[in-house]
Amino acid sequence: MHGKKDKQLGMDRRITRRDFLNGVALTIGATALPSALFLGCEHQTAPEQSPDYYPPALIGMRGSHPGSFETAHSLRDGTFWQHAGTPRSTGESYDLVIVGGGISGLSAAHFFRKIAGNNKRILILENHDDFGGHAKRNEFTVGTRKMLGYGGTYSIESPAPYSEVAKGVIEELGIDVASYPKYVAKGLYGSFGLTPQIFFDKKTFGSDKLVINPQRVGGGETSERAVPTSERWKQFLANAPISAKAKRDYDRLFHDEKKDYLPGLSSDEKKARLARMSYAKFLTDLVRVDEQVVKVLQTAPHDLFGVGIDAVAAQDAWGLGFPGFAGMKLNPTPGKGMNRDAIPNEQAEEYFFHFPDGNASIARLLIRKLIPDAIPGNSATDVVTAKANYAKLDEDGSPVRIRLNSTAVRVKHEGDPASAKEVEITYARFGKTYTVRAAHCILACWHVVIPYICDELPGPQKKALYSAAKVPLLYTNVAIKDWQAFQKLGVSSVYAPGCYHTTFTLDVPVSIGDYHCSQAPDQPIVIHMMKTPCKPGLPARDQHVAGRIEIFNTSFETMERNIRDQLSRTLGSGGFDPAQDVTAITVNRWPHGYAYEYNSLWDDFWLNGGETPCEVARQPFGRISIANADAGAYAYTDEAINQAWRAVGEITKG
Ligand SMILES: Cc1cc2nc3c(=O)[nH]c(=O)nc-3n(C[C@H](O)[C@H](O)[C@H](O)COP(=O)(O)OP(=O)(O)OC[C@H]3O[C@@H](n4cnc5c(N)ncnc54)[C@H](O)[C@@H]3O)c2cc1C
Repeated sequence: MHGKKDKQLGMDRRITRRDFLNGVALTIGATALPSALFLGCEHQTAPEQSPDYYPPALIGMRGSHPGSFETAHSLRDGTFWQHAGTPRSTGESYDLVIVGGGISGLSAAHFFRKIAGNNKRILILENHDDFGGHAKRNEFTVGTRKMLGYGGTYSIESPAPYSEVAKGVIEELGIDVASYPKYVAKGLYGSFGLTPQIFFDKKTFGSDKLVINPQRVGGGETSERAVPTSERWKQFLANAPISAKAKRDYDRLFHDEKKDYLPGLSSDEKKARLARMSYAKFLTDLVRVDEQVVKVLQTAPHDLFGVGIDAVAAQDAWGLGFPGFAGMKLNPTPGKGMNRDAIPNEQAEEYFFHFPDGNASIARLLIRKLIPDAIPGNSATDVVTAKANYAKLDEDGSPVRIRLNSTAVRVKHEGDPASAKEVEITYARFGKTYTVRAAHCILACWHVVIPYICDELPGPQKKALYSAAKVPLLYTNVAIKDWQAFQKLGVSSVYAPGCYHTTFTLDVPVSIGDYHCSQAPDQPIVIHMMKTPCKPGLPARDQHVAGRIEIFNTSFETMERNIRDQLSRTLGSGGFDPAQDVTAITVNRWPHGYAYEYNSLWDDFWLNGGETPCEVARQPFGRISIANADAGAYAYTDEAINQAWRAVGEITKG
């Protein structure tokens, strides 16, 4: 039953929830599949063998989708083994089993084959219904048009320069990073007069109002600005629904180039103070801005940190180019304890490439190297539209096998870890448990999971693994019929500090190979929306926990209502009608998103030096090595690759 308001929002339109239910059914209904759909080993059902199995086209709740996390949560809650029964042996034996089919796990398989030989037998276990981990592909069909979206990892980019190892993989995959400008229609949105805007919402600022964004204060901007700076400031100061004092303070914050808010201290002394002070405190106590200014900027660092300015150090805000530091004469070299995201590096900035499905293209190119029949084609441009054949991922006789929908639940040496010749890996798949054996095992999964599946590890290592609290995020893709409302309102992206999603933006206009981006406002497009759930006021890790619980406990229906409502309130005056214009919604829920990165506000060891938890966490143990971006406490693709390289080095040395 839907009320009048729900009907206006289009909540009664069946498309999103119908497909969502199908998506779940594909996962949990596998036991009802025809008997032909079995894996080669011991009666395992294998929906992946069906020609209809194609996860990228599923819409609704993706990311940590229903069916992917329940096993791991029951391990955490101590209930799994009560119902698991005795695991059945598959009889399979491998040279290497990798837990986790994200970029780190796939890179580990790639490196192992390079070092140990292509005939080595490798099994990758992945709990989701698709490979790639955070590097997730979303597909949409609107009319006759096929559109892609990035459900997670957005691009090849990193604040620090890519290592030679990571660059080497990118080159081997045939990706020519320097060629990116030729694929992106940089001036497209500007040519239609679109520019980034801020949405002031009624609950936070007293009225719903869309106002031009005078200067970047957050993520979600993909296009150049169609309106000159002075005109933007003029319009912002005239129209923003904040008090006259707040406007003056906002202007002063961005434009005062003389004021030193910590006079009498050396640059190092100032940085030491800023490292210990949140940016919110810097604004209120030192710059003394109106509280409405703090509200506008509150969510500005969400895209990088997953928390707001209450939990980001002022020194990091300076590194990120936030306003207020122009007159403070800070020496440009990075200060002690800076978060790695906040350390600017020109060399790194040049190394950028965005595929229409984000780094899912990297995952797909790695799969093509490992199992050529699974992804047809032979270039890093044809991969964009190549259709993956999931039936090829786990074939008898293939040296590399990728087993989706399979959660590793126990990893244990056969005998004393110091002298064992094998590791037994137990995994759960559609309610049953199975075992395989391997000469080596690489755990390329999230570190918080490892203590639950690998009981043998020493206590201090488990503690360090537990501490890798992930940053939760929602990456939502909404397919819409056209972007004429964006054109009417002159909007390319929206920063919305008080709304459910704190940014949304028209898709990056990239055309690669046979894939062509939306070229004109009357064509369908994908809008990308981002939310990093958190609880301002708490320490960063606690905010991540609260955010994780929140998105696990929020139904897709509630998220959908929030999405439709937000789009309607922001774009309604331009003619946007969520009931008519929205054709599909995919919420990529990542309760375990970015790797936690250390910073001076919350991690004393980071400011004071000494061994970091990730160094303790990633120690090899017998025949088990540990990879994943968590192993470097750095939420970037290059780190996922670097850590895979290190882990493979450990198992192949000598
Ligand atoms: C929304 C989002 C956007 C991002 N954007 C960028 C970006 O633009 N650029 C960038 O460089 N980085 C980005 N990142 C960081 C990204 O995490 C890394 O780039 C990289 O993809 C991480 O790869 P990984 O293999 O280490 O981890 P993951 O991709 O998380 O892969 C680990 C896999 O292990 C699986 N797993 C866990 N436990 C088990 C188990 N018990 N059994 C089987 N499988 C298990 C997980 O489900 C997961 O699929 C982003 C991350 C997120 C969440």
